[in-house]
Amino acid sequence: MEPREAALLSSILHLPAGITITSVHPSATELAVDVACHASSMPCPECHQPSARIHGHYQRTVADLPCAGRTVILALTVRKFVCSTPVCPRKIFTERLPGLVQSYARMTPRLIMFVQALGLVSGGQMGTRLADRSGIATTPSTLLRHLMQLPAPMARAVRVLGIDDFAWKKRFRYGTLLVDLERRKIIEILPDRESATVEKWLKEHPDVEVVSRDRGKEFRKAATLAAPQAQQVVDRFHLVRNLAETLQVVLGHCRAEIRQAESPSPAPEKATEKNARPLPTVTTWQQRTPPHIEKAHQARQASRDDRYRQMTTLRAQGLTQAEVAQRMHMSERAVRTWLKQGKAPTWKRKSRRRSGFDPYAAYVLERWQDGIHEAKHLYEGIRAQGFPGTVRIVQRFVQALRDDPEKITLPPPTGADRFSSNTATWLFIRDPKQLTTEKQAELELICQRSQTARKTYELTQQFMSMLRLRRGQEFEAWLEAVEASHIAELRRFAHSLLKDKDAVVAGLTLSYSNGPVEAQVQKLKLLKRSMFGRAKLPLLRQRLLNAA
Ligand SMILES: [Zn+2]
Repeated sequence: MEPREAALLSSILHLPAGITITSVHPSATELAVDVACHASSMPCPECHQPSARIHGHYQRTVADLPCAGRTVILALTVRKFVCSTPVCPRKIFTERLPGLVQSYARMTPRLIMFVQALGLVSGGQMGTRLADRSGIATTPSTLLRHLMQLPAPMARAVRVLGIDDFAWKKRFRYGTLLVDLERRKIIEILPDRESATVEKWLKEHPDVEVVSRDRGKEFRKAATLAAPQAQQVVDRFHLVRNLAETLQVVLGHCRAEIRQAESPSPAPEKATEKNARPLPTVTTWQQRTPPHIEKAHQARQASRDDRYRQMTTLRAQGLTQAEVAQRMHMSERAVRTWLKQGKAPTWKRKSRRRSGFDPYAAYVLERWQDGIHEAKHLYEGIRAQGFPGTVRIVQRFVQALRDDPEKITLPPPTGADRFSSNTATWLFIRDPKQLTTEKQAELELICQRSQTARKTYELTQQFMSMLRLRRGQEFEAWLEAVEASHIAELRRFAHSLLKDKDAVVAGLTLSYSNGPVEAQVQKLKLLKRSMFGRAKLPLLRQRLLNAA
């Protein structure tokens, strides 16, 4: 190869100075490049004396970053030198290829860095697929091995520590997430949420001055025992959540009161409707959703409801909608809509699904009214007419008739019939200034109907404004008001706060918040999901700790 050509190619491949390309063998998928070091002498690694006496050479291949989609393989000719220093214990040494490759490595450092970056953002399986697309041959295990070799980020002193648990597997296994609240970065992931585990970590980090935590016993114990120097702060998010749980119970008890005052008429009306048993028409009749699908729907709905609760909790603490959106990895528009509606959306199938059963529906309905209610009989009747489906389908349609017929034909209930302690809880907690006039009216109605609800609302708002405005000094006054209210659940809530009083008052006063921890928990959940639930702690930890 001509020296000029070789120099050009060398600069394209960005090879370090001192490395010469001797020839190139391109194929459709691969670029094999023969390279050698051209320095005439090499220093001995032992005595550092240069030697020019070549003992021999050998070949070694190393994968490099791909070039224009082609895999690049460097075929290195590595020389062996004889050390000329008589007293040197090293007789023969291999030349180093500084900046190009480490001894024994099969990839260049820049390729390793790229593979690690792929692993960090996309994990083993996905990373391998991406690597393959860009011309890097690797396997998930190689990729993960390189990923695990990344050094842990430099440990820095933590002043303000946020601590929370997260579910590895909901209701089965939990871990603990430690976040530097000032830098908003994950600093450690612990494999469980036991006090002893957290204590051990805290003892190794005596520079922690503030521990922001939930109201659970374990973290409280750990902080008290292992970080006595630190000020403990109960996180406001958890305070709001605990208050909401209490409200739900109180309002559940008021439900009868609230609904009764509503309207005395609906009850008898319903009874007559029940007697009439209105049947669906051919166009409104739907088969009942199979239980496993119904269950999946319910699970998704529960998770949406959960997100709505979290959203309201954050908003109630005074975060803007934009901040809530960012923290929950949702669009601002979605956050706005959900909050405006006062609940998580329910996604019901909008149009009725077409079915091969449709042409026979009228006939089956007629027979049903004649008193034939057995799915099997009905099925046989229409099969004779050419119905191509199975008896299961007929069973599902018939099941829908057996279910409460009101569910199928009646429009959704309105007014205070709609009262649910769950929805009301969030009306109570939110800043009234953030509520639409419609929601304010709904709230006013509830308070009008129940004295307990009114008093509860007063105490809730008192607590929430104390929390929003950081006026922990009003905590005593609030406690007294609750005590005087005789609302048992609220008093129980107040008593539980009293047990952890210092940390609660600190939470109501100081500006520290576990918001960044919540954000990191969300990130962890997303990452865990992207790893298809196979996330092992060391790998998950490596990915989270090294993430930018
Ligand atoms: Zn030597």
